[in-house]
Amino acid sequence: MRKKTPDDIEPAGLVRPLIQQLTAYVPGEQPKAKGLVKLNTNENAYGPSPKVLTALSEALDDRLRLYPNPTADALRERLARHHGCKPENIIVGNGSDELLALAVRVFVDSSPGGAMDHYSLYPSHGAAKVGLRMVQYFLPSYSLYPVLADLHGAHRNPVPLPMEFELPNVAALRRGRVWNTGAALTCITTPNAPTGRGYATADLETLIKTQERVVLLDEAYADFAEENAMALALRYPHVLVLRTFSKAYSLCYLRIGYAVGHPALIAGLQKAKDSYNVDGLAQIAALATLDDLPHYRANIERVKKSREALAASLTELGFSIFPSQTNFLFVRPPRQSAEVWLGKLREKNVLVRWFDTLETRSFLRITVGKEADNKALLDAVRKILGTKGASD
Ligand SMILES: *Cc1c(COP(=O)(O)O)cnc(C)c1O
Repeated sequence: MRKKTPDDIEPAGLVRPLIQQLTAYVPGEQPKAKGLVKLNTNENAYGPSPKVLTALSEALDDRLRLYPNPTADALRERLARHHGCKPENIIVGNGSDELLALAVRVFVDSSPGGAMDHYSLYPSHGAAKVGLRMVQYFLPSYSLYPVLADLHGAHRNPVPLPMEFELPNVAALRRGRVWNTGAALTCITTPNAPTGRGYATADLETLIKTQERVVLLDEAYADFAEENAMALALRYPHVLVLRTFSKAYSLCYLRIGYAVGHPALIAGLQKAKDSYNVDGLAQIAALATLDDLPHYRANIERVKKSREALAASLTELGFSIFPSQTNFLFVRPPRQSAEVWLGKLREKNVLVRWFDTLETRSFLRITVGKEADNKALLDAVRKILGTKGASD
């Protein structure tokens, strides 16, 4: 037989089968074209505080050749003061997405056979053993969770939400027989995305009390909500609360988020992270953000006010709207399918988000923009509907 040479290598075959079969996460479009009204990725309509921009530009010097603080100590101390806990309760990540990936790696066993979901398990696995390999989450919620589970070779356990997307109570979850109280990691987006619905902390507390392993409350939108569940992370040993500077604090570009919880869980995450996971400029920007919170509170109030105004206008135009505790609206458009609306809005230079899954196909997710953006959206909607009052 001829000796094999590098020319015989099929590069695609070098990728692990698990990765070959993986359905990757699809981020919202970041369009190159200018002049689009961008209401598709829940970025903050308003920019970071001028003090943050100053802190960043003052940091652009010779220090860029140095490694940053590996555990973001100054920021963790500042966040600890802010939340009334200790730095040991906090880990900072390269965006909260990184912390989600870490949580899967740190708390969930992986299956030797690769990704599979809860339903395809062979019966020899006891329920407890399945739980140790399980990432559990509601449907719909943040669509990154199943990707992270697959990537890790864990079991996915998607649990459908009720028709109105409210948080199911424990009795209903038991009746549904899909929920697993022994899941290694349960991720709950609260307030939920893409539905925008808020969950009461009291209801979350009842739910987490039935869980035997880690529950991660993904609070990316908590600043736009009526309440948040931070207290649960400091009261219960198995609860993590995840926050990000991306949404309310206008720092998507710098990638910075954090998790709060029991020091033993946090220590596990710290052990598994990359040595220098959070870049130095991001640490500086986050610290400067925490020094100028009134700037953000004012903008958050503006977003919430615009959200209610936009919801009222869209309702008048025939859209069904779910109550939102976030900086976006989840809406069912009238007359045509959500997919057709997506295309027609795009033709009018308005970008919104549509998720092509069974649970979400009839809805659009619309980020609340500045007044001018929201007006452009409403104008486009009126034109599409052929309603009088559409300005040309
Ligand atoms: C935006 C978002 C994140 C990711 O935030 P980053 O900190 O930018 O990685 C996580 N969870 C939910 C639900 C989000 O909407």
